[in-house]
Amino acid sequence: MNNYKILISKNSGFCMGVKNAFKKSIEIGNMNQNTILLGDIVHNRFAIKQIIESGLIVDENIDSIINNKAIKNVIIRAHGVSPEIEKQLRESKKNIYDLTCPIVKKVQLLTKKLSNENHEIIIFGKLNHPEVIGIQGYASSNFIIISNTSDAENINRNLLNPVLISQTTMNSKEFIQISTILKEIFPHLTIYNTLCNNTIKTQEYAIKLSHEVDLMIVIGDKKSSNTISLYNKVKENIETIFVEDIQDIDIALFKNKNRIGLAGGSSTPDYQIEKIKKFIESLETVT
Ligand code: SF4
Repeated sequence: MNNYKILISKNSGFCMGVKNAFKKSIEIGNMNQNTILLGDIVHNRFAIKQIIESGLIVDENIDSIINNKAIKNVIIRAHGVSPEIEKQLRESKKNIYDLTCPIVKKVQLLTKKLSNENHEIIIFGKLNHPEVIGIQGYASSNFIIISNTSDAENINRNLLNPVLISQTTMNSKEFIQISTILKEIFPHLTIYNTLCNNTIKTQEYAIKLSHEVDLMIVIGDKKSSNTISLYNKVKENIETIFVEDIQDIDIALFKNKNRIGLAGGSSTPDYQIEKIKKFIESLETVT
């Protein structure tokens, strides 16, 4: 019996911040009842299911959490929260488990410092993204959110002391384009590159692997933006399929192929990748 050679791309699966938040959340959920996780841990239904099975309740409604006396513990996920939300939770005497990713925390503290120095803070990020909502809370009211190059071109040109920062997971090419546009408008602009290079590294490793295999499989939730962009990058190089579970795999695509590459986004739990790997290992090669 001939089996497929399976290669898993380096860096596949949860990034450092999510891995830490996920592991600790499950531990806290197993040990404590009446514990709330403040919003989905990642955009991945398998990971969310595991969180709920550990006994945690996922909720984002601060008022209902604060007013619910039965809730004793609140977990802050890797995206972090604004200082105002943290203050409200502390005043309500809940136990807080702050699992904000240290890289996000650094951006929050940088924002606070820049705001105290009276800079206008331009945040390159997605409107209403939880990480951006948290960061903007550290900027008092002195911030502008831009999400693309068109927002940068149309920015209010009367800013006196602007600085540029970014949501950690934004696209690096777009950050450079936006920096160039803003530097032309504000020659004295100071740029802080606050991107996290985890996403870039994951994409680089997957692209490298795509040159060594016959077919790539990108694994994750089809609503996860980091996994979608991983898929889009990889498929530029080789035939690639995007799967959530084994039923998404069309075995006909394996015909005349021997080496299969697997890559997961930073919101994909290891066991989702492992499940796909085991399934392919159980198949005989098709010629
Ligand atoms: S992508 Fe980077 S900044 Fe965001 S949670 Fe993961 S490690 Fe932290």
